[in-house]
Amino acid sequence: MIEVDWARLKAHELRKLADDNAIVILPIASMEQHGPHLPVMTDTRLGQEIAHRAARKAYSHRAVVVAPVVWSGLSEHHMPFGGTLTLSHDTFRRVVSDLIEAITRQGFKDILISNSHGGNVIAIQQILDELAPTSKATLVATNYDVEAGEDLTRHLQDQLGVMHAGEAETSMMLICEHDLVDMSNITNLASPEGGKHFLSVGKGSYRWRPFTHMTKNGLAGNPVRSNAAKGEKMLEAGAKALANLIMDPETWAASKDLRSAEKNIGEYK
Ligand SMILES: [Zn+2]
Repeated sequence: MIEVDWARLKAHELRKLADDNAIVILPIASMEQHGPHLPVMTDTRLGQEIAHRAARKAYSHRAVVVAPVVWSGLSEHHMPFGGTLTLSHDTFRRVVSDLIEAITRQGFKDILISNSHGGNVIAIQQILDELAPTSKATLVATNYDVEAGEDLTRHLQDQLGVMHAGEAETSMMLICEHDLVDMSNITNLASPEGGKHFLSVGKGSYRWRPFTHMTKNGLAGNPVRSNAAKGEKMLEAGAKALANLIMDPETWAASKDLRSAEKNIGEYK
């Protein structure tokens, strides 16, 4: 099997990958409570699995290397349940920015930040807004569940999206860490409907709240019909979506500059 794991490669092999214009995937996740049945590494483990599978799928098209998962994300809303290690926004921004900078300084030109934790989404976009205009690399951020969309969600029977510690994550963890998934009380874990909008008030206004506002056991979703077969299909859907994103030339193409026509007639100098 092709080695795509940054941590397992030697420095000269990584220099060669930079020379060969390999794409770097930087997975970013969390270490946070995932109910009584899943380990706190769930987002980190799934993010790693999907990134590695995506890298292997895309490799024949273009070399890809996967950096170690940034397991420390933004999980303040899960703190009351315990088991959760969160960063402040400032620290998270510095960690992610410094890693992107370190990767860029080695000559890698295309970096895919692959996020697998909902709480990181807005912060990652802000980091890219800050870095991208002057970065020597092209920076793209993705979330595997959004990128896979219907291809992933069509395997779900009892919830609409990936959610938290529900049918999707439980099924995928049955493939990745079977021994760490406790299915003994799975029929009693579904979180009640209606709590979905725990971060909103009014017709669409934002209010921060802890996750305890919507669930008593740390779940959002219904894991009752989780199984490994479903998990495998969802992992593959996520990996395929990321591989397609990596292989699409449009993902890495230079931004257009539509002033060029006017430049030719001398309007912009
Ligand atoms: Zn999760």
